[in-house]
Amino acid sequence: MLAWFVRSVAQGDTHLASATWSGLARVRPVCDPDRPFYPANAFGVGILDCYYDDQRCSRCLTVVVPPTPAARPLAVVR
Ligand SMILES: [Zn+2]
Repeated sequence: MLAWFVRSVAQGDTHLASATWSGLARVRPVCDPDRPFYPANAFGVGILDCYYDDQRCSRCLTVVVPPTPAARPLAVVR
């Protein structure tokens, strides 16, 4: 299970990581596990409850919301 963790309030700097975070160690964001950080929030925020849409990391969002297939062009029939 994943949850959102705030690295900073900058746009796109809230990332997904394991919701079982201990509260002491750094979290490893799913978008870049090699750059762990100490989150500003004490508890992970549920995937559907993130505070502001523009703070969610776009790369982490692809884990939550897989890309939709491109719309097929409509044919014009006369
Ligand atoms: Zn991320």
